Amino acid sequence: KENILEVNNLHVSFKTRNGAITAVRGVNFSVKKGNTIAIVGESGSGKSVTAKSIMRLLPKQNTIIPEGNIKYENRDLLSLPLKDMQKVRGSEISMVFQDPMTSLNPTMKIGKQIMEGLTKHQTLSKKQAKQRALEMLELVGIPNAKSRLEAYPHQFSGGMRQRVVIAMALACNPKVLIADEPTTALDVTIQAQILDLMKDLQEKMDTAIVLITHDLGVVANMADTVAVMYAGEIVEYGTLDEIFYETQHPYTLGLLRSMPNVNASKSEPLIPIPGSPPDLATLGTGCPFAARCPYTMAVCHDHHPETTQLSDSHSVSCWLQDSRTPSDHAPEIVGS
Ligand code: SF4
Ligand code: MG
Repeated sequence: KENILEVNNLHVSFKTRNGAITAVRGVNFSVKKGNTIAIVGESGSGKSVTAKSIMRLLPKQNTIIPEGNIKYENRDLLSLPLKDMQKVRGSEISMVFQDPMTSLNPTMKIGKQIMEGLTKHQTLSKKQAKQRALEMLELVGIPNAKSRLEAYPHQFSGGMRQRVVIAMALACNPKVLIADEPTTALDVTIQAQILDLMKDLQEKMDTAIVLITHDLGVVANMADTVAVMYAGEIVEYGTLDEIFYETQHPYTLGLLRSMPNVNASKSEPLIPIPGSPPDLATLGTGCPFAARCPYTMAVCHDHHPETTQLSDSHSVSCWLQDSRTPSDHAPEIVGS
C-alpha cells in the first residue's frame, strides 16, 4: 500500500514574550491508505501541535515552521496556497477534536450543519445534501436519525454529539481523518463504542486515521503503527507489535507499565513514570528523558541520542540501542 500522508522532518516553534519555544523537533512519520497511526505521549509532548500543523490550524502570527514538509498526494501541505488548503480541509483531510463542541455550532440544527459542510465541498442539490446528511447520521448510529436532523447540539448526549461530529467529518469521504483525543472526554463504555464506530467506518470508507492519544489502551485496539512522542520528538516508532512486545525506549516502557489492562498478567503492579515532562524552554543538549529515565548513563546528560533503525519499521532514539555506547555502560533493557 502507498503512503497517503507523510510528515518529514517537521519542526514547529512558537514565538513567545521570552523567545521562541520549539514544540516539535524533527518529527517523521507516514500513514498508508486505510491504516491507522497512533501518536502517543503525555500532554505537552507535541502531538496536537503536529496534528494541527497538518491541518494548518496553528495561529499564523506566532507559529514558525522553519523546516520540514507534509506530503499529501505528492503535494506539500505546508506550502499550499490557503485557498487550496481550504479545499483539502474537510473534503480530503478532516479533523475530530476531544470536545465535539469545537466543531459544532450550538445555534444551528444538526442536519443543517452537516449539509453546510457537504455543499461547501461538493455540488449537491439541497435534497441530495439532506439525503446524505441523513445517511451519515444513520451510519454513525444515531437513533431516529430523520427527526434528529432537526435537533440542536445540546439535545444530544456527549457520546451522540461525538458521533455527529464523526458523521460531519466523514460526510465528504475524506482520505485522512485526524482524531485528537476523540474519546478522552467520554466514559469508558461510550469510548469503546465510538472507537468501534471509527474502525467500522474506516473499513467501509478506506480512510487513513491519525489518532492522537495519551491512552495506550486505545492504541492497542486501533493502531497499525505507533509513534511515541516525548518533548516534541518521536522517541520510538514501530508497528503495534513492535511497540508493545519489543519495546525499546525507556519512556515507552514506562508508559506501558503505567497503563492498566495492557499487560496480560494482572499481578504486575502499575508503576507511574516519576517526575514530569521537561520545560521546553530550558531543554539542554542531552536526552530530553534523562531526568526521568531509570537507565540514564553519563552520555545521556550532554549528548542527544540519534535514531537507531532496528528493523524496516522499528526505530528508537536512545543511547541504550546505539552500537557506539560501550556495553559496560548499557544495562540490558527488558521488554514489557
Ligand atoms: Fe534513558 Fe539515556 Fe535512553 Fe535517554 S538516551 S532514554 S536517558 S537511556
Ligand atoms: Mg493535546
